[in-house]
Amino acid sequence: MRLRSRRNDRDVERDLYPKSRRAAKVSKVYDAIIVGAGPGGSALATSLARSGLDILLLDKHHFPRDKTCGDALSPSAVGILRHLGLEDVLGRVGFRIDGLQLTMPGGELVAAPILPTSRDGDSACVIPRLELDELLRSAAIRAGSEFAGGVRVTEIIEEQGLVLGSTNEKRSSWSSRIVILAVGANVGLLKRQGLVPKRLEFSYAVRSYIKGITAVDRQLHIRFDGVPLPGYGWIFPVSRDSANVGVVAFRKAKGTSNSIYAVFERFLRQPLVAEMLSMGHPRGSTKGYPLRTDFHRSPIRRGRLLLIGEAAGLVNPFTGEGIDYALESAMVASESLRDCFATGDFSEHTLSRYDQALRARFQRIFVLTSLMRRIYMNPRLLDALGRACGRWPDVAPLMVDIFLGRTDPLRAFSPGLMLRILRSLPTAS
Ligand SMILES: Cc1cc2nc3c(=O)[nH]c(=O)nc-3n(C[C@H](O)[C@H](O)[C@H](O)COP(=O)(O)OP(=O)(O)OC[C@H]3O[C@@H](n4cnc5c(N)ncnc54)[C@H](O)[C@@H]3O)c2cc1C
Repeated sequence: MRLRSRRNDRDVERDLYPKSRRAAKVSKVYDAIIVGAGPGGSALATSLARSGLDILLLDKHHFPRDKTCGDALSPSAVGILRHLGLEDVLGRVGFRIDGLQLTMPGGELVAAPILPTSRDGDSACVIPRLELDELLRSAAIRAGSEFAGGVRVTEIIEEQGLVLGSTNEKRSSWSSRIVILAVGANVGLLKRQGLVPKRLEFSYAVRSYIKGITAVDRQLHIRFDGVPLPGYGWIFPVSRDSANVGVVAFRKAKGTSNSIYAVFERFLRQPLVAEMLSMGHPRGSTKGYPLRTDFHRSPIRRGRLLLIGEAAGLVNPFTGEGIDYALESAMVASESLRDCFATGDFSEHTLSRYDQALRARFQRIFVLTSLMRRIYMNPRLLDALGRACGRWPDVAPLMVDIFLGRTDPLRAFSPGLMLRILRSLPTAS
């Protein structure tokens, strides 16, 4: 469906803004400007540009650029990338993953396959963000979006659809009918626009690439042993001899701001981890970055300004997974906006369909997983869960589905399962 308006930019601008409020000098009015070329921003740019819309994608970085991440993609994230036409490249550069292994605080192992999606057969994979984000940005450009890197957006003047930013100290402005903020965990611009919740919720994570490992398998390894809870350590294979290794603390670790690095150092020294990574050596520097997990109380739109991905707090509070949610929210935004462009109806009523669709998809999951994180990331309960997985073969696949966000956690934690977990708690001697 081609949605590009036949009217010229001046007509559009005249319709959109009364004369007194029009920008002093607008050379071009884009259909949409997307700020942030991470997975969310680039996926949205690709989808909208394919519909014939005039899209400008801005990022403060020049690309290719790295983004500190664990690099793991769930089967549903891979499904969206396939839908965007990246299937072949993913097959070439992504490292296919077949299973998830959880190590409980007491050392109990829980392993289950990550089955490909039943409809399309998409598997989980690991792909470094340096490559993934560049693939997505290139797809957006191929679809017809304009991209400008090295542009730090500093302000949005909403009533004029004006985006203000600076490149090499030089100030510039661009105009559009809709603005989408896909700025990730960077909240500076969101704060200035008054688009953050009263209480922001951040977690902190650190990762490093370890190369030259001899025992790489095709499993995502999540370890609750030897790290402060709620949180976990991970070993995600990137290739046959290297892995992305990191730790996440779902509550800011006490002490100095560098303490997450200390947690990481301790994780690496833990005997079982050291054994798994033996012969390996770090490649590049160890980097930390925050994750924002407050979607359930975060603003997601005001007028013609929409938020997607981590800018809307969309990182799973239980697992730290955010790429799939950035891609999914981009698809939800794309569908809502294409309706607006097709009908020319940008009324509050029509735009609010985005809010409704996004809340319908994610609100319940976020409320529940935030709660679950508090209750279940407790060593005794995790160990009991590990024992329940050993005794009842249907429990481990359920754990994997919860971890991958594939199942409603409340439905998964049925009274029957709760009873089995309670029966697996050690009895006081
Ligand atoms: C250590 C760590 C490990 C993680 N591991 C995983 C994992 O294994 N799997 C998973 O699914 N998720 C993981 N996540 C979460 C995931 O990285 C994010 O949720 C995801 O990148 C969000 O995508 P996004 O498109 O919303 O934003 P981002 O990918 O953060 O992209 C935002 C973009 O906006 C740009 N930007 C920001 N501000 C401005 C501005 N003012 N002007 C112009 N440009 C701007 C930035 O340069 C950036 O390119 C991890 C996060 C961390 C920190």
